[in-house]
Amino acid sequence: MNLELSEEQAAVRELAADFVNREIVPHATAWDRAEEVDRGIVKKLGALGFLGLTIPEQYGGSGGDHLAYVLVTEELGRGDSSVRGLLSVSLGLVAKSINHWGTEEQKQRWLPRLCAGEALGCFALTEPGTGSDAGNLTTRAVRDGDSWVINGAKMFITNGTWAEVALVFARTGEAGHQGVSAFLVPTDTPGLTRTTVHGKLGLRGQPTAELAFADVRVPADAMLGPEGKGFNVAMSALAKGRMSVAAGCVGIIAASLDAAVAYATQREQFGKPIAAHQLVQEMLADIKVELDAARLLVWRVADLIERGLPFQTESSVAKLYASEAAVKAANTALQVFGGYGFIDEYPVGKYVRDARVMTLYEGTSQIQKLLIGRALTGVNAF
Ligand SMILES: Cc1cc2nc3c(=O)[nH]c(=O)nc-3n(C[C@H](O)[C@H](O)[C@H](O)COP(=O)(O)OP(=O)(O)OC[C@H]3O[C@@H](n4cnc5c(N)ncnc54)[C@H](O)[C@@H]3O)c2cc1C
Repeated sequence: MNLELSEEQAAVRELAADFVNREIVPHATAWDRAEEVDRGIVKKLGALGFLGLTIPEQYGGSGGDHLAYVLVTEELGRGDSSVRGLLSVSLGLVAKSINHWGTEEQKQRWLPRLCAGEALGCFALTEPGTGSDAGNLTTRAVRDGDSWVINGAKMFITNGTWAEVALVFARTGEAGHQGVSAFLVPTDTPGLTRTTVHGKLGLRGQPTAELAFADVRVPADAMLGPEGKGFNVAMSALAKGRMSVAAGCVGIIAASLDAAVAYATQREQFGKPIAAHQLVQEMLADIKVELDAARLLVWRVADLIERGLPFQTESSVAKLYASEAAVKAANTALQVFGGYGFIDEYPVGKYVRDARVMTLYEGTSQIQKLLIGRALTGVNAF
């Protein structure tokens, strides 16, 4: 793995860092308090080409490789995990799935708008009764002439109330993984109701929704990928999606370290900066080690993808490590801040709250361990 960034990758990272410092960091606390990021940020992400990274230019994408994608995702995670999540879902889970599995018509219809930030996508897999056991989902799609009619409910859907298109997973056949198909459903389709989920611990600026489907009728050509292969569509999206979540976690760890170092060198106790106390330096060093380790694991996944090598297990390793490390790092940074870390005049409390979901979604830490264990042993312990 080459650890030196190309000129193009370094330029993308600088562009993202500058954008985050100007357009996101100054507003992150206000958006968190208001429980909504400024929706204008979506068009800005599109205008800079960030929402089109790795998507071919012929579909409105901006090209670029997976390391460039990871660098941008990390920077967004450093600025605000709510904004990072908008991109990870709309580009990472939805646009990339359309690019990989879609027909020419589906690509032409959705990708240019998603890449430009004129539309957002959401990824609707989880249901009120099925989270980790996603293959047992109960939302059903029944064939009726030239259409499919969808009934059921989805829970915790990121971008749910803002998205123009939902990638929906529904049962079209037998029980279990094999009977699931994927559909691209315009969110203004009659019968689809979206309700905001309030009271989240973190990611407060991000729209999370419950979706209800009551006889939602879509044409046959709304199916993404072959009938009965919807679970493969979901798993292929999540394998890369975990790299994106992990990159966002690296951003949280980096932001935690920056904030803790700045505070420790300025705050004085016992007649000297707290950074001059060895136990405070230990906390900073612990965060730094987590930062470097998590970042290298994420970059390895991007490198494997670019070289066309298997990356799924390494993506689980990166997601498991980086998400647990982000929780620890943000918590340690809060400790460095003492009582001031507990109020939202400083950002570290938000980092703790935002980091907490990372060990839960796109597969909990327990699920990542089962995926890694299965790859090691060939034994399925789910
Ligand atoms: C803010 C937020 C945004 C989200 N965004 C999306 C989204 O955009 N799209 C989407 O589809 N979903 C989304 N999710 C849902 C998320 O992916 C699920 O919450 C997650 O997969 C876990 O499912 P669950 O909450 O039903 O927990 P459960 O599956 O009920 O798990 C509960 C506990 O049991 C453990 N457990 C379960 N099975 C096993 C097992 N076999 N062995 C050991 N332990 C096990 C879990 O690890 C966990 O600790 C989001 C969730 C949140 C909170």
